[in-house]
Amino acid sequence: MLKQPNLTVNNAGHLCVGGIDAVALAEKYGTPLYLLDEDMVRARMGLYASAMAAHLPAGSRPYYASKALCCKELCRWAKEEGMGLDAVSSGELYTALAAGFPAEDICLHGNAKTVEDIRYAVESGVGLIAADGEEELYRIDAVAGEMGVRQRVLLRVTPGIDPHTFAAVNTGVIDVKFGVPIPTGQALAVTKTALALSNIILEGFHCHVGSQIFDADPFLLEADVMAAFLSDVRRQTGYIAPVLDLGGGFAVAYAEADAAPDCAGMIAALAGRLRENFAQYDYPLPRIILEPGRGIVAAAGVTLYTVQNVKSVPGRACYVALDGGMTDDPRYALYGARYTALIADRADEPQTERVTLAGRCCESGDLLGEDMPLQAARAGDVLAVLVTGAYNYSMASNYNRVPRPPIAALRGGEDRLIVRRETLADIVGCDL
Ligand SMILES: *Cc1c(COP(=O)(O)O)cnc(C)c1O
Repeated sequence: MLKQPNLTVNNAGHLCVGGIDAVALAEKYGTPLYLLDEDMVRARMGLYASAMAAHLPAGSRPYYASKALCCKELCRWAKEEGMGLDAVSSGELYTALAAGFPAEDICLHGNAKTVEDIRYAVESGVGLIAADGEEELYRIDAVAGEMGVRQRVLLRVTPGIDPHTFAAVNTGVIDVKFGVPIPTGQALAVTKTALALSNIILEGFHCHVGSQIFDADPFLLEADVMAAFLSDVRRQTGYIAPVLDLGGGFAVAYAEADAAPDCAGMIAALAGRLRENFAQYDYPLPRIILEPGRGIVAAAGVTLYTVQNVKSVPGRACYVALDGGMTDDPRYALYGARYTALIADRADEPQTERVTLAGRCCESGDLLGEDMPLQAARAGDVLAVLVTGAYNYSMASNYNRVPRPPIAALRGGEDRLIVRRETLADIVGCDL
């Protein structure tokens, strides 16, 4: 089993998450069911905050990338743990504001914000908007002008770094939909535009090199490119950036073979490199923002399913069909993401089989994994998929009109729902 201190097996041979019997939780709330270890989420939030406080200039801060898992309760935890918050849409922004998250601690992202998104953000008083390019700067300037305010913005730039991760989540190289490229000179030109607009205040720059980054190297490279860029901007315009947002992308271990990433160590290494670089240019070290999403919530999540049937094709795969699938977790269908699974009611038994985990949708690509080790499964077993806290609930859909599962939070040995199960009435809720 994946080594995580919050995952144990009790005397009945059942998987326990945060000390609570997962089979009992499946019975209590039904399946599919997302479990979220609240103690672990809060500890992860604290870890980023304390590593940044220890190594980076005052005012530096982690912003929770809420796209990883967005619901009101998560926003409340982020607020209580002292994080800022990233929203990528009016929907994420609305969720955070509805949870009482302070607008001034929110940054609105997105590569194609609409005028409505921008108006909602400016009206709400969000602290920062990360502008994705020149047209967006003009749009933000116009909206802020209409409202008689000056909006603080970051300019999103692409440093041209390949972090060697999945192409689908690789946003650092320049041929991507995000940001203004530095290597082509466009970033400098657009910076000059930003500085000339009267209704925006350029607070600094944003970049994000990718996802599932296991060691500090891509972040160090990012620190090199960004320090050189900031120094270049100062030479050409005299502008000194008070804020530098280096994005998210901290890896988590999904399988036993994955190394356990040391995010505090990565932040310490990054801070060292930033100090060196900015000292070399004799440039005042900006306040740093980091935007962990997956690193906060992924490992705290476990999804429980009930096995519906098991089908062996002689000489071929063994299909274990579940009461969920791509509707609650599209990551395997989207980018072949790997997971660890186990039978929660016989978690102490050896994993002697190799199986394909099949979802319930009318779609042969609706799988959660292939050739996965598992205990011999039977209909009625509770099956647990580990490390599902990030990009599962937030990417869930109602394909085949399947209702989305609830989320039960686990804290100090107690469980409670923080998102209820969708009903069939919810499914037709928007139908006229
Ligand atoms: C996706 C994203 C993040 C979070 O990425 P993780 O891999 O979940 O840490 C942070 N910032 C931006 C701009 C993103 O697009």
